[in-house]
Amino acid sequence: MSFVEEIMEQVKAKNPAEPEFHQAVQEVVESLELVIERHPEFRKAKIVERIIEPERVIMFRVPWVDDKGEYHVNRGFRIEMNSAIGPYKGGLRFHPSVNLGILKFLAFEQVFKNSLTTLPMGGGKGGSDFDPKGKSDMEVMRFCQAFMQELFRHIGPNTDVPAGDIGVGGREIGFLFGMYKKLRNEFTGVLTGKGLNWGGSLIRPEATGYGAVYFAQEMLATRGESLKGKTCLVSGAGNVAQYTCEKLLQLGAKPVTLSDSSGYIYDPEGIDEKKLAWVMELKNIRRGRIKEYADQFKTATYTPTDSAQDHNPLWDHKADCAFPSATQNEINGKDAENLIKNGVYVVSEGANMPTTLDGVRIFLDKKILYGPGKAANAGGVAVSGLEMSQNSLRLAWTREEVDSRLHGIMKSIHKASMEAAEAYGTPGNYVNGANIAGFLKVARSMMDQGVC
Ligand code: NDP
Repeated sequence: MSFVEEIMEQVKAKNPAEPEFHQAVQEVVESLELVIERHPEFRKAKIVERIIEPERVIMFRVPWVDDKGEYHVNRGFRIEMNSAIGPYKGGLRFHPSVNLGILKFLAFEQVFKNSLTTLPMGGGKGGSDFDPKGKSDMEVMRFCQAFMQELFRHIGPNTDVPAGDIGVGGREIGFLFGMYKKLRNEFTGVLTGKGLNWGGSLIRPEATGYGAVYFAQEMLATRGESLKGKTCLVSGAGNVAQYTCEKLLQLGAKPVTLSDSSGYIYDPEGIDEKKLAWVMELKNIRRGRIKEYADQFKTATYTPTDSAQDHNPLWDHKADCAFPSATQNEINGKDAENLIKNGVYVVSEGANMPTTLDGVRIFLDKKILYGPGKAANAGGVAVSGLEMSQNSLRLAWTREEVDSRLHGIMKSIHKASMEAAEAYGTPGNYVNGANIAGFLKVARSMMDQGVC
């Protein structure tokens, strides 16, 4: 039995009914096969077997009461995956699809991503199956407070530092931070993505989207090209998608799509600064649906999407680049083929694991510039790391300072991934490169720290 088969058999037996976790592990372990051949000491010390097992999983009840006085019970989670290189760090996701397997896949990916950022952060992830959609601000606040009433005993600025993810933005981080501060009676950098008046960092909201665009810029530079004049497909309409569009516009590219879980808009004229400002108001303040874009701007068409369909029509338009920025597995094999058929040769993943294993194989076979989420979307957690540094220093850096550090980190992630891919015999394969470069730092730290 091969190394990959052996590990996958164990993973599936020990973690049944967690397909996203299996998928994330499979992708990494396939890359690590190359490393294990050269480093038998990792095999002997069972580093891979240890790295796929969370250090700790916390699951808890979150009871809360809505505006009508009705009682609800949600489930809360925190996966503390690996602390070899720093305190656990990773976002909180509030979405009805959240379950243990999804959070384990996210926590697992986070370990490698955080290692790539060059900053001292371990990996973690958490969240709840709570659905913030359609809830009042007061209901969201009561839920966040109930969630923190349990989470507070497991986190801390030197232990575990959560941030936002799907369904958790500035509003939720504020409510969570307020309750943590009350329960602990201390003001610390225990969460990132905080408001600017109370310890947040400039550029944190922009960081993931900007970072994914910087990563695409670096990949294009290897072929002597830039983003100027490129037509770009973007999915999602949340934090990552919005700031991806903003940076694309700044660099002279033309984003033409946005989506939410109901459907997508296609605007062949381009989503310009004014239209993007309108989307930000729609999504961040009015909390409306992307469908309204096509009512507002007559150049656009709206197409509802149906997850039962065998492909997503958003990925079936003529373009040069794609920035999947909504959720996991939003590009399957057929979508990957459609992208390539339509001329797309740059894919930079803002979302976590947005491409299925079939889709990844197609991108790699066709040798397009494919930046996997672990590398391409690491800008968000990188600036979270910079927020932690500023909190520890009790200083706030300027917008330019943080943006230039972010840009530098994205360049170094690109370089490390490219060099690792080359060193292990697969030049141009950023999947192998990111997995290997991220793994080596964590693995060597685990070896140094003994069996624990
Ligand atoms: P937001 O909640 O701000 O936005 C998410 C967007 O994706 C919304 O438009 C949402 O539509 C859509 N979406 C969510 N779930 C689904 C689904 N099952 N099917 C179709 N569309 C869906 O989240 P973010 O922008 O923060 O996160 C987007 C992705 O980026 C996630 O994969 C996240 O893990 C990843 N990421 C985020 C980082 C960050 O800093 N925020 C850092 C690194 C990665 P709707 O409103 O209809 O639900």
